[in-house]
Amino acid sequence: MHKNFKNIDKTVFGRGSFDQMDTILAEKRGEHNKFILFIVDNYFKGKPLEKRIPVKPEDVIMFIDVDQYEPTTDQIDGIRDQVLASKGIPAGIVGIGGGSIMDIAKASSLMFTNEGSSTLYQGLNLIKKPGIYHLGVPTISGTGAECSMTAVLTGPVKKLGLKCDWTVFNQLILDPDLIASVPRNWWFYTGMDTFIHCVESENGTLNNTYSHAYAEQALKLCQDVFINEGCGQNAANDEKLMVASLMGGLSLTYSEVGVCHALSYGLSKILGTRHCYANCIAFNHLEDYYPQGVKEFKVMIEKHKIDLPQNLSKDWSDKQITAMAEVAYNLPHMWIHAIGPDWKNTITIDLIKNLYKRL
Ligand code: NAD
Ligand code: ZN
Repeated sequence: MHKNFKNIDKTVFGRGSFDQMDTILAEKRGEHNKFILFIVDNYFKGKPLEKRIPVKPEDVIMFIDVDQYEPTTDQIDGIRDQVLASKGIPAGIVGIGGGSIMDIAKASSLMFTNEGSSTLYQGLNLIKKPGIYHLGVPTISGTGAECSMTAVLTGPVKKLGLKCDWTVFNQLILDPDLIASVPRNWWFYTGMDTFIHCVESENGTLNNTYSHAYAEQALKLCQDVFINEGCGQNAANDEKLMVASLMGGLSLTYSEVGVCHALSYGLSKILGTRHCYANCIAFNHLEDYYPQGVKEFKVMIEKHKIDLPQNLSKDWSDKQITAMAEVAYNLPHMWIHAIGPDWKNTITIDLIKNLYKRL
């Protein structure tokens, strides 16, 4: 079966496009209880961008601190219940922030129309009804959360996305000015997520002409941002990184991620390491699987003077390493892509444990 996905309905790209939001929302405001719910990264509270958000008196604005933990099912249920109790169903939701806020906006959009806790819907196509209109404004680039069909949530039992066609944003506003203030380490780690998406998408059995075209272009953009002359965090490169993030996300949607993401999921699940940082920690030691990609990665680390911790595994117990290896092993779609349909002939829990011991 070939993958058949829904895309974002509308996308606007360009410096200053943030200010088109008011016009874009105007035609949506008449839906449901006629107000917009804005979900904004707490970083922007008190910053000049806050004043540019087109909030009307009837609207609700929530500032969310994404540094304490990644989005949870409790958090989404809480947002939904609080807003429903005070104002009813919004006409639409606007998410302004990084991957965490993109996921909160996507998940909340679905939970306004689907009864019960979001824990009931963690998985593929479990959502019963379309959500409400949702618009994403990414302010940090790399995860591809702005274009993916999943909203990753940590619940009491599992860390798994609400994954279905209705998760995908109805509208994106891609304004490269917004990512200028991202701290250098985050710029690098989150940017590397898109680089790794492309390397993994390209190196595996599911790669095809369609996913390859996106990855090839996204990798070129990443090289300009992180390696070539003129690389670094500047206005021209912010534009490139924003487009690379989207294209990297589309590439993996039509192909798959691989060994690095499998290991990264284990790190996040067992140790709580954040997605993009966990990817960097793992990718640095995967030269056997992605020789060219890891070589370039090391050049980028060196060029941007990024401190990646080494010998982390010396502080991990065998029990923790085994638990991480089990998480990674239980992602067969990634191994099928990276190694092939007979991956179980070569990939064992012990082999994965040894990969973790390299970190
Ligand atoms: P993030 O949203 O977690 O934010 C990282 C940090 O950057 C935060 O401190 C935030 O306040 C800050 N920040 C964001 N924009 C800023 C700006 N313009 N200026 C200054 N600071 C800014 O970052 P992320 O790496 O984009 O997202 C990680 C999350 O994305 C994780 O929760 C992960 O699970 C999720 N994710 C989702 C998908 C998906 O397809 N849905 C894919 C990968 C990762
Ligand atoms: Zn990723």
